[in-house]
Amino acid sequence: MHYRCQNCGGNVLYDPNKKKMVCESCGSEESQVIIPQKSLHACGSCGAVIEAGDHTFSTRCPYCHTYLIFEDRLEERKPDLVLPFALSRQKAGDLLKATYNDQMFLPKDFCSVASIEAMEGIYVPFFMYDLKSHTSFDGEGDVIRTWTDGKYEYTETNIYHVRREFEIDYSRLPVDASLAMDNQQMDLMEPYQYDDMKDFDTAYLSGFISDTYDEDSETILPRAREKAENYSGQYLRDMTSKYQVLRPFNEVTDHQLEGVAYAFLPVWKYVYRFGGQNYEFFINGQTGKVSGEPPVDWRRGLIGTGALGLSVFLLLQFFFYFLGVL
Ligand SMILES: [Zn+2]
Ligand SMILES: [Zn+2]
Repeated sequence: MHYRCQNCGGNVLYDPNKKKMVCESCGSEESQVIIPQKSLHACGSCGAVIEAGDHTFSTRCPYCHTYLIFEDRLEERKPDLVLPFALSRQKAGDLLKATYNDQMFLPKDFCSVASIEAMEGIYVPFFMYDLKSHTSFDGEGDVIRTWTDGKYEYTETNIYHVRREFEIDYSRLPVDASLAMDNQQMDLMEPYQYDDMKDFDTAYLSGFISDTYDEDSETILPRAREKAENYSGQYLRDMTSKYQVLRPFNEVTDHQLEGVAYAFLPVWKYVYRFGGQNYEFFINGQTGKVSGEPPVDWRRGLIGTGALGLSVFLLLQFFFYFLGVL
């Protein structure tokens, strides 16, 4: 299916700035009608054959650029929740530019207008886990004090028996469920503000591409557990920070699964091609957090050094000129 404008026949897309459906051709708001897909692999607008992957939910027709949503697939793997895009392509591009603006020897066409226009907004499938975690710690902790009287240095070590027991309720701990997306990159996109989370609606997909999950909630549960364990471990270290040395005898964290929700979270993906290699950048589609490592253009560096060489040469010329005069 796709959303067609009743006024001009253009493609109606979800606008992150206006937070409503806007026709990309005439700018009409909420003027959409749903045009169903005639067959799975044909564009409902121009009829072209679409090469959609097995897990594709929404994509852009490469010929007429209409955003298509494969609603048949929604029946089986429909998300419960969606966090709508809050950043437009333009804003995401500006943030990307601002982030790397000061980097030395940044290639000249990094974030060029054409490459920003090709940037895609992606809804990444996530499972969000509610976990109740119980940690019990039993061990020894040292409090070390050193002082000097001018002649000798003294060290006093007090050893304490340390016991801690606590429970943490984790709510909506996100783990990405897409094999195509790098797990570490997706972890770097956190945190998201969940207050803006909405019940899923296909209208949010119009203008963005998405895949359904390819790892189920059972398969990736260990990653949620690991995250909870890291947070709980950090909490324990904060709680026991007065001990310079902590020796655990027994440390156990148990997790109880309280609930799981399937959600789409927004990410802008920018691919920059340089020196025959692709560099990927991700921007949190809600908060604007940026991740990625731009390449270094040494040619720009050499030109820069060349300019420096020239100015040193001119300075020397100037100097010798004065010497000559003297
Ligand atoms: Zn229109
Ligand atoms: Zn088309």
